[in-house]
Amino acid sequence: MRPVTEHDIRASFVNCSKGEAKRLGLPRELAGHPWDDLDFLGWRDPGAPERAYLVTERDGPLVGVALRVTSGASRAFTSRSMCSLCLTTHTSGGVALMTARRTGEAGRQGNTVGQYLCADLACSLYARGKREAAGGGVADESLTPEEKVARMRANLYSFLDKVAG
Ligand SMILES: [Zn+2]
Repeated sequence: MRPVTEHDIRASFVNCSKGEAKRLGLPRELAGHPWDDLDFLGWRDPGAPERAYLVTERDGPLVGVALRVTSGASRAFTSRSMCSLCLTTHTSGGVALMTARRTGEAGRQGNTVGQYLCADLACSLYARGKREAAGGGVADESLTPEEKVARMRANLYSFLDKVAG
């Protein structure tokens, strides 16, 4: 994706108020991100770890989604979970359930959409083989990185559709 500025990010959110978008904590060192390897910028709020955000370009304009991280019951160390975007499997703590408030009336009524995502939101890097899950791995090794990236994007867009739907 193209490098984005603080202003771009704060203006992109579809499922939180303007006030929330203005106050949310941005990733540190925005300029240093490996933009060429990112399909979306995802981060945990440095000041509020139970909040996470992702911002992506979809057909041009930026779309930002605010997420709540649900820390479920801690699992046994040996259990594995899979990210629903990049399908990377992680051991305990590497995957977190994140919920997004839906846009519009549905969101005002409290409807949310939940997805299991890589806890560090670095799916773009896992799909490209630029980061490896500790003790985990990618389920389907027969795909090329390009195919994994395409699959992750499709999963991401279907998530965005559910948030906006
Ligand atoms: Zn992932």
